[in-house]
Amino acid sequence: MADALTGGCLCGGVRFELTEPPTIAGYCHCTRCQRRTGTAAAASARIVPGSLRLLSGEELVRTFRPPDGWPKSFCSVCGSALWSEHPDDAELKSIRLGAFDEDPGIRPSYRQFVAYAAPWEPIPDDGLPRFPESRTA
Ligand SMILES: [Zn+2]
Ligand SMILES: [Zn+2]
Repeated sequence: MADALTGGCLCGGVRFELTEPPTIAGYCHCTRCQRRTGTAAAASARIVPGSLRLLSGEELVRTFRPPDGWPKSFCSVCGSALWSEHPDDAELKSIRLGAFDEDPGIRPSYRQFVAYAAPWEPIPDDGLPRFPESRTA
């Protein structure tokens, strides 16, 4: 990769870089993501484990740990969604696509939890495979 992919939160306190390109990206329509983001779906990109490097603001990052599913990290100052991490392997993360400074290169290739999609926003007819529950279930 020529230049490291960089990103951060809205207030600029948290800054990070990826040392390797993300591997896969997709939209999640689950109820939790709707609540978490205030939107109909969340776009995230899975990273190569260990490829996320925090450049600043580590002390600002807070993590919400639901009883099941992936813990979700955000900036405690501005509330920006940053990433989620695998419950058993914190190095395996999914970065929120909106957190990147530039085009991360990767494009969402699936939609998951569409069974719970928001009634007020039709799922775009973009040809992406749709999974009623988790893509990996
Ligand atoms: Zn912030
Ligand atoms: Zn979700």
